[in-house]
Amino acid sequence: MELLRGSVDEHKLTVRAIPKRPGRRRKCHCGCGGGSTHIMQANGIAMASGCEFAMWKKKQQHEKRRGWK
Ligand SMILES: [Zn+2]
Repeated sequence: MELLRGSVDEHKLTVRAIPKRPGRRRKCHCGCGGGSTHIMQANGIAMASGCEFAMWKKKQQHEKRRGWK
């Protein structure tokens, strides 16, 4: 049985909004002072969470490292 996994180096990265849920929300780590509203996924697996800007930036960094344009 193969485990479903995601790799930032092998899989297509996508940024998605987290569905709004009542209650507490995790804080974004990038220093914007906002909450985590988006996640970055690789192969459908969430690899990171943060504000939208932080997630797009992270995705860009990974793609740059891989040599993607
Ligand atoms: Zn942020």
